[in-house]
Amino acid sequence: MPAIGIAGLGPAGAYLGALLQDKAEIYEAQKEDRFTSVCAWGTGYYSMKDLTKAVGINFDDYVLHRGKKILVGWKKKIIEFDAYGLSTFDKPRLLKDLAKNTKVHFGTRVDRGYLESRYRLAVDATGPNRVLVGKPELDFLVPTIEYRVKFENPPFDDFYIEPFSGYSGYLWYFPLSEKEFFVGAGDVRLNHEEKVIEFIKKYGGETIEGSRMGKAIRLLPPEYMNPLYFMNAVAVGEAAGTVYPLLGEGILPSMISAKILYENDLDVRKYMVKLKNYFLPYRKAYDYLSRKMKGQGNALSDMISVFSIVMDAIKFKDVLGVDLKLSYAFKILSIL
Ligand SMILES: Cc1cc2nc3c(=O)[nH]c(=O)nc-3n(C[C@H](O)[C@H](O)[C@H](O)COP(=O)(O)OP(=O)(O)OC[C@H]3O[C@@H](n4cnc5c(N)ncnc54)[C@H](O)[C@@H]3O)c2cc1C
Repeated sequence: MPAIGIAGLGPAGAYLGALLQDKAEIYEAQKEDRFTSVCAWGTGYYSMKDLTKAVGINFDDYVLHRGKKILVGWKKKIIEFDAYGLSTFDKPRLLKDLAKNTKVHFGTRVDRGYLESRYRLAVDATGPNRVLVGKPELDFLVPTIEYRVKFENPPFDDFYIEPFSGYSGYLWYFPLSEKEFFVGAGDVRLNHEEKVIEFIKKYGGETIEGSRMGKAIRLLPPEYMNPLYFMNAVAVGEAAGTVYPLLGEGILPSMISAKILYENDLDVRKYMVKLKNYFLPYRKAYDYLSRKMKGQGNALSDMISVFSIVMDAIKFKDVLGVDLKLSYAFKILSIL
């Protein structure tokens, strides 16, 4: 019997599976034939290419759309940012292929205690659920909704996002092919579904039957996520808070957290230190978001924070998929 039991076949669990191969087993609640991922499937091409190459997979085989621009709709204006490889990809197929050399128990929903008693180390890769490590002391979950939509005349031919006022959330429109897009939104004020339906109607979109899906997304960073382990179970991915709070991107950071655990020989203590350190910029971005949501800050403190966040994001550009430049700080400040 392998030594490691993983709960969840999302990016974190699947990538850890790819690294550990037959030293691990994965338990996934969804059935194999209906397996999917509630997500807009958007990611940074360059980091994904490197991470998948390291486990013998060619990411190009999964890419659906390679973005050139990210358009931001704000107060009836469109502000353009250069993409840095931001792409959509067939996420469910890639997740399954990452785990092709690991035994996956599909259709098996695990509870606390099930893996802990069977394996030397249990890994909680269940995203917002945190089934093994339990509810965190503090949390910040944003509800989301998403539809797959066909547009005869697509309003935009690349990635488009529309932030809501008061930092409550944003709407996204991510291309999957020339005429098909994911249109979704997350909003702490709970207007997300209304905004998505309004957008689809406004641009004459036709929702694909059965495509409505949604779940909460966790924006609290690893540094504030406690506990990160319980008994012999450790959290990776979104269960450990690896989503970039300003953009909601969690795919690559979740895989990176799995890599950090693997590269630290599955030593939970070393992993937690490295994880918090690596994701320090996410904490800074979260602190800023949380201040703004409470209506705190002024022009000077905003400027300092935004410059610092942009500097961090430049270092993370392979992961975020946005070609941020320092000059963009002014564009961003104009949106705030
Ligand atoms: C609507 C939406 C759109 C998003 N769009 C993007 C995007 O475009 N780009 C991006 O980078 N990020 C996006 N995200 C965030 C991203 O999807 C997640 O942060 C990322 O997938 C987290 O990976 P994970 O492996 O930690 O967890 P998850 O992807 O949540 O995977 C957890 C897995 O665990 C399984 N599971 C849950 N409970 C149990 C249980 N008890 N037993 C067994 N299995 C269980 C689930 O079925 C699931 O397969 C989006 C999120 C949402 C909700």
